[in-house]
Amino acid sequence: MAEIKLSDSRDLTRIERIGAHSHIRGLGLDSSLEPRSVSDGMVGQLPARKAAGLLLHMIKSSNVSGRAVLLAGQPGTGKTAIAMGMAKSLGADTPFASLSASELFSLDISKTEALTQAFRRAIGVRIKEEAEVIEGEVVEVQVDRPATAGVAAKTGKLTLKTTEMETVYELGGKMIEALGKAKVQSGDVIAIDKVSGKVTKLGRSFSRSRDYDAVGSQTRFVQCPDGELQKRKEVVHCVTLHEIDVINSRTQGFLALFTGDTGEIRSEVREQIDTKVAEWREEGKAEIVPGVLFIDEVHMLDIECFSFLNRALENEMAPILVVATNRGITTIRGTNYKSPHGIPIDLLDRLLIITTQPYSEHEIRQIIDIRCQEEDVEMAEEAKLLLTKIGVDTSLRYAIHIITASALACQKRKGKIVESEDIRRVYELFLDVKRSTQYLMEYQSQYMF
Ligand code: ATP
Repeated sequence: MAEIKLSDSRDLTRIERIGAHSHIRGLGLDSSLEPRSVSDGMVGQLPARKAAGLLLHMIKSSNVSGRAVLLAGQPGTGKTAIAMGMAKSLGADTPFASLSASELFSLDISKTEALTQAFRRAIGVRIKEEAEVIEGEVVEVQVDRPATAGVAAKTGKLTLKTTEMETVYELGGKMIEALGKAKVQSGDVIAIDKVSGKVTKLGRSFSRSRDYDAVGSQTRFVQCPDGELQKRKEVVHCVTLHEIDVINSRTQGFLALFTGDTGEIRSEVREQIDTKVAEWREEGKAEIVPGVLFIDEVHMLDIECFSFLNRALENEMAPILVVATNRGITTIRGTNYKSPHGIPIDLLDRLLIITTQPYSEHEIRQIIDIRCQEEDVEMAEEAKLLLTKIGVDTSLRYAIHIITASALACQKRKGKIVESEDIRRVYELFLDVKRSTQYLMEYQSQYMF
């Protein structure tokens, strides 16, 4: 087979878009929840990652609800990255919803409605249902008497008697043969592969259903369209409370989930749904799965939103709330009071606080390496050293942005590998915050007031 060369693979168009955090695949912890120094796209921030991992462990193992965590740290220290890592480490059926606090002020719906929707997007409902599913090639048969197997093998028919009726199932050729050969005993449950005729003993069952009293006395059997036996199976669906709300509240039903145009949902609808879900839980048909709600830039919430959060966390179905901010002591929006992170003291008191620390030069270099790989950018060692230095002097985010731009500069000069000259070019073209501020101070008088 011809070997694929690097140049060939580069020609392949990458379909997926590369986002700021697409290199983050998890929290990078080992099986005892210890953070590996570089893993899952994550670098450093060991105590914060460990704390986040512990929290996830709590969510997964004990279904805790209503806990709240604050990720606090300087800009660009990986708060959002850690939240993304948490999202990736959660199982597929544990919901993760995220929003930036400033979004709440630009929506058509009220702030509290938007927050309620966000909370309900982060609460999963695992619904169990008995459904008739056409099984692959294996059917399960319970035989009450060995003789039954013999009769079925001879006649090709298996009879199920219920109190009201008697149902005769036609068996396929291989199944007849298999039943004939099987050394079954009373109460055996066996599976027969309809193609190969292989018989597997699954166990023994002496349970008699209320409905069936004869051969194959299990309610699990239903007839499939072609007349052969088919297994009745328990199917589990996972939906969020918000999805149930939307489906039940709008005439366009579930389509609103795709357009995002859910509008305000009436509180009566939610009450009805909560009552129904509570009934399902009592009947053992449903379980609540508290997920994670991540609110970035939490200092942008106002006092009404903060009191809503305080109340919402009291609900027994509440998800784990993770909020992040890069602010120090600042005004609580909607008041004249200042407080740490712009969060009222009563809410702060409920939060477990995880802090993130600025990165060392070595860590910045490791993140740059990971981002180059993620963006498929080949960069010379010297250029990486220069970019790391820029990252230390300016910010990690600025350095990450330069990767894409310098790859374009390299492409433009028809180069194959990004060199220091490409980095320098882009560095001159795009200012970082420090130089931009300096420029502003120099030319302030020429700007409008
Ligand atoms: P802000 O306070 O400005 O919102 P932040 O603390 O949320 O910043 P991020 O957005 O998470 O910072 O980080 C900036 C960039 O650096 C992102 O692309 C992020 O994925 C990446 N990054 C940050 N920390 C790490 C890390 N520990 N490992 C890998 N990548 C990281």
